[in-house]
Amino acid sequence: MDNIKKPKELLWGLALEALTKKLPSHALNTWFAPIVPVSIIDGRFLLSVPSQFFLEWIESHYGEQLLVAIRFALGVDQATFQLLVSKEKKEIREVQMAPRLSPLPKNTRVNKNYLFKNFIEGSNNEFAKNAARAVAQSPGAPSFNPLIVYGGVGLGKTHLLHAIGNKVLEKNPNSNVVLVTSEQFTLDFVNSLRKNKTIEFTKTYRKADVLLIDDIQFFKGKEQTQEQFFHTFNELYQSGRQIVMTSDRFPSEMKGLQDRLISRFQSGLSVDVQPPDFEIRVAILLEKSEQNGLNLQYDAIQFIARHVKNNIRDLEGAIIRILAKSSLMNKEIDFDLIRGVVQERIGNSHISELTIEDVVKKVSSLTQIKEKDIIGKSRKMEIAEARQLSMYLCRSIMGTSLSNIGFYFGGRDHSTVIHAVKSINKKQKKDSRLRNQVNSIKQEFEFLT
Ligand code: ADP
Ligand code: MG
Repeated sequence: MDNIKKPKELLWGLALEALTKKLPSHALNTWFAPIVPVSIIDGRFLLSVPSQFFLEWIESHYGEQLLVAIRFALGVDQATFQLLVSKEKKEIREVQMAPRLSPLPKNTRVNKNYLFKNFIEGSNNEFAKNAARAVAQSPGAPSFNPLIVYGGVGLGKTHLLHAIGNKVLEKNPNSNVVLVTSEQFTLDFVNSLRKNKTIEFTKTYRKADVLLIDDIQFFKGKEQTQEQFFHTFNELYQSGRQIVMTSDRFPSEMKGLQDRLISRFQSGLSVDVQPPDFEIRVAILLEKSEQNGLNLQYDAIQFIARHVKNNIRDLEGAIIRILAKSSLMNKEIDFDLIRGVVQERIGNSHISELTIEDVVKKVSSLTQIKEKDIIGKSRKMEIAEARQLSMYLCRSIMGTSLSNIGFYFGGRDHSTVIHAVKSINKKQKKDSRLRNQVNSIKQEFEFLT
């Protein structure tokens, strides 16, 4: 008998039950617990997952088991499933309700996932974000045209470019937004020459209301493409259309680009994105782990943030790698696993070379409590607190294992250390004296790590 008319939550529950019998619990918790049933249409169970990475992972690793479980739950042999990334859920529903909605114009290659609202702001990028937002609000304003966002890899330039595109389209769905990489622009141009379709090329690009070009450094040395771009640029610029570009460096430092292009670029506004500082790295890790359905302890987040410093792509990579590794190796996500991933990502540089002893010394000099008391047995309140503080710092700065910390501090077991970390985390929020101590020690050590 088929079950298709039953509530989707109930059916998904049945499928999960079937999967429980086939899969280890870590796999269920990591990959299946975050799944939300969306609807069942024509024997197809639509399920929402937190990210594209999830989607691909589940399909390639558990696709067959999932199919079997779905067929079992629905009681239909031909039933299938489809995974949707959760951000797309709403759109999919809308499409289902109004199947004849016209698709977006083809030339808007804007990634729907890159939005202002999920671009985390900090002192490293707020100027760029504000400028991008202003441009999206009123494209073509002379003082922001062209806008150039420049900076190192993985710092959010492409994200901002797409966010502008999305915002413009949200405000005005008929606006002709053209977003391409400089490579795509070059390719389109070369193809148009080959196929005698320069008119089409010109039409596409010179009809843009907003032209967004990613990574213009790749125009370097391509004389003809630059020539073409120069004309496109002028035409758009003169008719007040907005141009936004990203680049890996400041316009005047772009070697291999014609001077007249560079001087055009300088007539607008150039804003940079900088590497994220510690606080921003923490914020990004919190956000990205939540997005991926990963629940990391705060000390683990801090540990990652302290070591993975270069850019946001690496931070995101760390989160994904943690998920992947736990699944590949059949392991719970614990601190050892996180340490391993961090070591992989920072390659030859070392995980903090500080020792537990260094931490205890520092805490001792700050609190005026003797080192031997800190690692001793006394339960006097200020001593116990200094001990907990030291344990907490070992964990969040160096990622020292619980058992090593426990061993060093008078042979305590790891539940004591967990308790210490939690307790300092909590107290810090209310107790400004303690918070200042933590911050001052972390700041001093940051020079060393
Ligand atoms: P770039 O183009 O500068 O090399 P990207 O825009 O491709 O960098 O960013 C790399 C990844 O990091 C993307 O997945 C992007 O969404 C993410 N990212 C970058 N900056 C931020 C930010 N401020 N907030 C949230 N995610 C970010
Ligand atoms: Mg980019």
